[in-house]
Amino acid sequence: MINNSDLERLKLNIQNANHIVIIPHLNPDGDAMGSSLGLYHTLTNLGKDVKVVTASAFPRFLDWMPGIDQSIDFEASADSAITEIEKAQLLIFVDFNALKRAGDLGDILGKSSAIKVMIDHHPYPEEIADIMISVPQSSSTCELACRVMTLLEWNQFVDKNAAECFYTGIMTDTGSLSYNSSNPETYRIVAGLLEKEIDKDNIHQLVFHSNSFYRMKLLGHVLGKKLILMPEQGAAYMWLDEQELKEHCFQPGDTEGFVNYPLGIEGINISAFFMVKDDKVKCSFRSRGDFPVNQFSEQNFNGGGHRNAAGGESKLSLDETVEKFKTELPLFFNKYANNEL
Ligand code: 5GP
Ligand code: MN
Repeated sequence: MINNSDLERLKLNIQNANHIVIIPHLNPDGDAMGSSLGLYHTLTNLGKDVKVVTASAFPRFLDWMPGIDQSIDFEASADSAITEIEKAQLLIFVDFNALKRAGDLGDILGKSSAIKVMIDHHPYPEEIADIMISVPQSSSTCELACRVMTLLEWNQFVDKNAAECFYTGIMTDTGSLSYNSSNPETYRIVAGLLEKEIDKDNIHQLVFHSNSFYRMKLLGHVLGKKLILMPEQGAAYMWLDEQELKEHCFQPGDTEGFVNYPLGIEGINISAFFMVKDDKVKCSFRSRGDFPVNQFSEQNFNGGGHRNAAGGESKLSLDETVEKFKTELPLFFNKYANNEL
């Protein structure tokens, strides 16, 4: 539910702010960049000075998004990212609900004296903002952010660029409207975006059919050589080490979506994927049905997310992380199967 007094406060605070900085989560995906840039275009059209600051680089498959080249990556340009945040009167956090999800930017954001707004659809939000717009039922932060713009009566400022960005996040967070997308409201928002004359088929093409040769080879490699089943739990896992990534000229985003493939196997309802990122192991989990991968990740891999899509991280080695998964999953699965969660 979006409450009216939050909306009024949001409108007032946006109207009163000149410099606005929008921040998506670490390792931003289609929904995080889509909601950041959708708001960026909309609020720029409203006459605001807006910047998008990311905690880490955006993935290659989003490089066509209008305005993405104007975003500032804290990892690559820390000084200008900090300058923008210090200048901001308003910070808008999108697609995350705990400061640790902003990586090394988390501390800086926490200490900022700017008014803070959160627009997000993950469950169990932490109190990280003055104005919290949290709607876990929403398909995506993009759907939610677009609805908020309409409720504020700023739909006329959502131009074609903004609409392309918002559509991208709805598309990527719902697997092209194949899950989390049974609410008719989602389609009303999509209809409004189509009225802005976006080319949705082309967006699909740009995001899903613009793989690099190396990404395709890496996908073939991981499915061919690194996919293991755990039939008793209806689970599957895959992992990639640094050497394998290097051999396939890894670029950020190249492994996006890999974790979904094992769910295409009959009888597999839980999938996990592990890879080395910086000095940690990044973990991704997906499920079908009511198995809560967010709880599993929270308990074992310092993570969280949605019931059917979650992530986490591990400071163990890659091999130790995979071993931990192999040990912990059956234990957690038994609790789940016995209704003991
Ligand atoms: P992915 O596997 O695509 O990185 O993430 C899947 C979902 O889990 C996304 O909704 C993402 O926001 C969330 N997520 C990913 N990594 C983490 C993490 O380390 N902590 C938490 N709390 N959520 C995460
Ligand atoms: Mn999202």
